[in-house]
Amino acid sequence: MDDRRDLSGTVREVIAQTCALVAPRRCPCGREDVWLCPRCAALLQVEPRRVETCCDALQVLTAARVREERRGGIVLPAGVDHSALLPVLALGEYGGELQKIVLAWKNGGMLHLGARIAPALAPAVARLAEDAEVVDPSLVPVPSRRGARLRRGEDHTAELVRALDRGGAGRALLLGARPTTAQEGQGSRQRRARRIVLSGRRARDAGRAGRSVVIVDDVVTTGSTLRGMHEALTGAGMRVLGAVVVASARIPPPGEFRDERSGNIE
Ligand SMILES: [Zn+2]
Repeated sequence: MDDRRDLSGTVREVIAQTCALVAPRRCPCGREDVWLCPRCAALLQVEPRRVETCCDALQVLTAARVREERRGGIVLPAGVDHSALLPVLALGEYGGELQKIVLAWKNGGMLHLGARIAPALAPAVARLAEDAEVVDPSLVPVPSRRGARLRRGEDHTAELVRALDRGGAGRALLLGARPTTAQEGQGSRQRRARRIVLSGRRARDAGRAGRSVVIVDDVVTTGSTLRGMHEALTGAGMRVLGAVVVASARIPPPGEFRDERSGNIE
């Protein structure tokens, strides 16, 4: 990383801390005199969970059987099999206090919460990198919609990626990217992926170098945005290891999802 970017990151951090000093302290849950109360902090200090099985737009058809099939002594019923396009790790379900933390961070002018969220997400990045045997992955934030970014005056996912970079989780890779919004008149199939267009030299260089990247976002719902990012990044030549998000609209019920890495049923 060059010095100039280091410096701008430091300046941003100082500004965030200064704003934090003059604003009254309040946890997103409402508790006064504290930026993040111990109960809310505990929501971030959790083992990240795999959630991609809950994201409809991330499912890809892997097999279709007209009739029952026997394969290696196992009887597979007629039907279709799906597998997820990429692994997605989340800290928890989007609801309750975790939702309040996310909303305060992205819409409520509490950008300093990113500094608390980054260390919580770092283990999720490490897990994806480790599974893919990659050292020092690049971290790509999902681009905010232009309107949202202008309204907030800041790009919270880009800030989160910078904070992850400062903490040594990976290298921030801020690409020129814009989501396309005009989707009316398209079939449901096209609507499942939000198309994202990458631009600029950084994207071309990263693609040419075949960089291994982790996508970073705030909340995953159907996964259509992650699917769009995955398409854009792989289309440019990058290798997508997976995505990390703060919260997921749905998380797998206990026992449904088998973590292939640990062999544990979560
Ligand atoms: Zn709280």
